[in-house]
Amino acid sequence: MPPPPRREPDVTKPGRPALFLDRDGVVNFDHGYVHKIENFDFLPGIFDLARFAAQELRWPIVVATNQAGIARGYYDEAAYETLTRWMRDRFSAEGAPLARVYHCPYHPTAGIGAYRQDHAWRKPRPGMFLAAQAELGLDLCASALIGDMPTDIEAGHAAGVGLLIKLPPAGAGQTRPPASGIAYQSAADLRQALALLRQATSR
Ligand SMILES: [Mg+2]
Repeated sequence: MPPPPRREPDVTKPGRPALFLDRDGVVNFDHGYVHKIENFDFLPGIFDLARFAAQELRWPIVVATNQAGIARGYYDEAAYETLTRWMRDRFSAEGAPLARVYHCPYHPTAGIGAYRQDHAWRKPRPGMFLAAQAELGLDLCASALIGDMPTDIEAGHAAGVGLLIKLPPAGAGQTRPPASGIAYQSAADLRQALALLRQATSR
């Protein structure tokens, strides 16, 4: 049976905001191409932040992650899915289940075979955020994003996410600033990111 036609977001109803999280460098320490549970170290404060979003704001939490390690053949989709199931269970056990986890397994130049694609989901493109908007009925302008890479901030900006919070890259991150002309806030760590989110949502 063919899949049902994809529903367009209902623009007549105001959507709800979401909290978007990058994975490596935000949820967990970025050791570089993390794909095993034993190398997945949650960053301090991630569950406090997630509980605030889920329980106090009642916002869905969406993880959006580039996974070029799949494109490069460092690990496969099955390994990624195993790790993702475990990660989702941990968030649920902490009282902050993840509404969606999106990943982009493609890379425009380093991808092997079908994984060599300049894909609309690869940040700094906004594809994963737009997919979340359509599936969850989100108000992106009222939403918040936390990322550690300039490309996270640029992708959030391209999608029209209202509050962009940048952490310093933890691990193998890029150090260039996001493209000029993008308004974002910097946080030294997840505790500060939570304070910024609290402040922005208390008005
Ligand atoms: Mg990252």
